[in-house]
Amino acid sequence: MSASNGSSVANVAIIGAGLTGLLAAHGLRKNGFDVAVFERAHHIADRPRDWTILIHWAMPLFKKLLPEHLIEKLPEALCNPYLKFDEESESLPVFNGETGELLFKNKVPGARRVSRQRLRGLLAHELDEAGIIRWGKRLAGFSHGEESEAGPVQLQFEDGTTYDANYVLGADGSSSKLRQLLFDKDEAARVQLSGFMFATAIVQYGDAAKVQAVLKTHPVAAITMSKSSVGGCGVMYAEASNDLSRWTTMWVKIWRKSVTPVPEGATAGQQALDYLKATTKGQAEPFQSFIDWTPDGSECYIDEMKYWVSQPFDNRGGRITLAGDAAHPMLIYRGQGFQHAILDASHYLDALVQVREGAEALGSAISAYDADMIGRGAKAVQQSVQEAELSMDPKTVSQMLMARQGHGSDYSLPNPDKATQADNAATAAANTTAVDKFPATVPHRDPGPALNQSTMQGSPTRSPAASPHAVPHEQNDRQQHQQQEEEQHPSIIPAAEPDEVHDEDEFALTDGYETASTGSTSVTSSVYAHTYENGRRYQHFKNGRYPIPNDDEELNREDMKHAMLMELCDGELFYAPIGDKVQSILDIGTGTGVWAIEVGDRLPNARVRGIDLSPTQPAWVPPNVDFLVDDCEQGEWLDRDADFVHLRFMTVVLKDVAGVLSRAYESLKPGGWIELQELCAEILCDDGSMPDNDPVKYMYELSHRAFSKFGMDVTLPKRLEPMLRDAGFENIQCVVKKVPIGPWPRDKILRVIGMYQKMAVQDIMPILPGRPFTALGMSQVESQVTIAHARQGLADTSVHRYFHYYFWFAQKAP
Ligand SMILES: Cc1cc2nc3c(=O)[nH]c(=O)nc-3n(C[C@H](O)[C@H](O)[C@H](O)COP(=O)(O)OP(=O)(O)OC[C@H]3O[C@@H](n4cnc5c(N)ncnc54)[C@H](O)[C@@H]3O)c2cc1C
Repeated sequence: MSASNGSSVANVAIIGAGLTGLLAAHGLRKNGFDVAVFERAHHIADRPRDWTILIHWAMPLFKKLLPEHLIEKLPEALCNPYLKFDEESESLPVFNGETGELLFKNKVPGARRVSRQRLRGLLAHELDEAGIIRWGKRLAGFSHGEESEAGPVQLQFEDGTTYDANYVLGADGSSSKLRQLLFDKDEAARVQLSGFMFATAIVQYGDAAKVQAVLKTHPVAAITMSKSSVGGCGVMYAEASNDLSRWTTMWVKIWRKSVTPVPEGATAGQQALDYLKATTKGQAEPFQSFIDWTPDGSECYIDEMKYWVSQPFDNRGGRITLAGDAAHPMLIYRGQGFQHAILDASHYLDALVQVREGAEALGSAISAYDADMIGRGAKAVQQSVQEAELSMDPKTVSQMLMARQGHGSDYSLPNPDKATQADNAATAAANTTAVDKFPATVPHRDPGPALNQSTMQGSPTRSPAASPHAVPHEQNDRQQHQQQEEEQHPSIIPAAEPDEVHDEDEFALTDGYETASTGSTSVTSSVYAHTYENGRRYQHFKNGRYPIPNDDEELNREDMKHAMLMELCDGELFYAPIGDKVQSILDIGTGTGVWAIEVGDRLPNARVRGIDLSPTQPAWVPPNVDFLVDDCEQGEWLDRDADFVHLRFMTVVLKDVAGVLSRAYESLKPGGWIELQELCAEILCDDGSMPDNDPVKYMYELSHRAFSKFGMDVTLPKRLEPMLRDAGFENIQCVVKKVPIGPWPRDKILRVIGMYQKMAVQDIMPILPGRPFTALGMSQVESQVTIAHARQGLADTSVHRYFHYYFWFAQKAP
């Protein structure tokens, strides 16, 4: 039998009858498109696993896509429709799973939690009756005419049937077959294992008091955070009757695979439940009981969370693209997966409407869709991985986006001109959530083992001579230094198998800062003014000078870079041999304050002052640390009794580096030290694996030009020696380190560092199309395509790119 349609009408084939495919089908159908959905399962009940999904910031778009009569039926899919929806039910509380203390509560205005299966049933029913869903059709391949871009795509299914479609949308989930077919190399499209497991249990306690205990925690759902796991509990299916004993509840658990591996065969059913009961102990009540009370035979599944960082692909002239989990499978943190799927479905519809109306050619409309979906998706996927990492360490929980930014979207429309009213409403709603981001209750802080004093005291006093990499610069010129560096820093050895770079311990590096103490800032309220552009927040103190946003995303990036540097430098916070009697330390351009706080912890007898243009440091810091909001190029920060002045990643953003070095010199006591830790943003490669037209290199070259428009020289870090000398410093030394971009080296630590560096590069990508590339006169589409290519290039571990990090330190004459 052939499924060939033989139709000449423009039609859309959707692969996959998951939530994304079904929602897209409704949106397209509502707007007059001819749609067919192809699903490998033979019946909707073939995939019985259920869980709850919160529809939050994308709710306005979700409703826009559905016909009115289905929106009215939405309560049928809600986990608990028998509620007065108010501020309390439209919130998501997060508890300390070990103490039961409420950590924070995120507002989710207008959000509704649904059963995935019930929503799927609701969305599928009508499409099924209309014969739109073709069950039992597993996509196996596709072909299309090479000549004409307007020709149809022929889809081939495993049962031997075919179907011709003008447009194809792949909504076939995280291991998408269509994604695999779109990429030349299998591995480029392959989903990655995250190393984080998740379990879902659906429970009928058959006991009203137990259900009441769940409802008392929260009438919809709540989250718990513990040292080794994250959990959730709430209502799964509410019955109309007042008899709570008939209600069904659920719980969820997430943990790191390497900490508690799952025995073979224990991934579903009773064995999974037994395993989970045996390995989940010590939770505060009532959370422990929710698990212990679970009756034998309850539905229970365990799985490893997977992700794939969205990358560009050849969309065959706009005829084929992806949406939902097929486009950006991510970890379930902050419930973002389906929100982005909704946005995809909405933007895909907008693109096809433009094509139909003749406003845009197919190729450019879908390429713009792709650029947005890939950029947004890649960012969300990376955030979800980072979120999982931060969630497993009590010291870093407060850095989670969930704690700092709630469940809102940070998505900014790439092209506001194209924004529909519903888009804007969604973004506005999201911002409302994000504004109320700071928890009323401070996240739990386990002081943990006090940071190791002996190591701390010992490390800063280490003589630079002990470092094999330190090169005296008084007598050597730059060329000599570089030659010596090359001799002492042989090329990084790449992994034998580029594919073997996704070990679970790649993300095992955690680094946080202790925030549980009192401190102060000298922040005045006027400094809190900010400028918003392109949906991002820019600092306002000297607005226009620093074209990098100062909102939470940038802060995350700073903290991540700190973690990477700690790994790179073997836990050393600096190389300057400052001795152990330092009393006063200045951290110029302190950013999130993470370095200052850590130094303050390690050197409790020193007063550490961080100076920055933006008041973005935490209020909770060690008592010997404080922050000053000031312009280090102009302000009144000169101390004249400092023992040590530290700057990290500052030389490229300072307008007058020489002036700041002179001021630092003035600030220091005789014999005091300065250290500058700087990334030279030139992409290097030792083994010829990077082609001249490398897209990552190209993006960096553009950014050099763009940043120079703002008076910044991103390669200055390699030329600091004469500037230090001119400022009066002597005993000038430098440690140069090669930092791989991506997890391509053989050495495991370097792989972790490379992974972090790659994430730092990926994180800066969304920033570039804003002010920097706009300053070069690039259009949004041009910028997005450049970024998309670079993102794709970054994923290629056969290209061995690296940066040089320079650690310059020098002394004021004693
Ligand atoms: C426990 C949990 C909680 C979550 N909570 C939230 C939340 O609160 N908020 C949120 O936004 N997101 C949440 N998510 C994410 C959300 O569930 C997913 O993003 C969403 O369901 C993805 O839907 P999809 O249709 O893209 O993919 P899928 O549901 O995987 O659907 C893909 C479909 O394609 C079919 N298919 C696969 N291969 C083929 C083939 N070769 N041919 C034909 N058909 C094929 C599959 O059978 C399937 O029906 C959560 C996820 C989990 C696991």
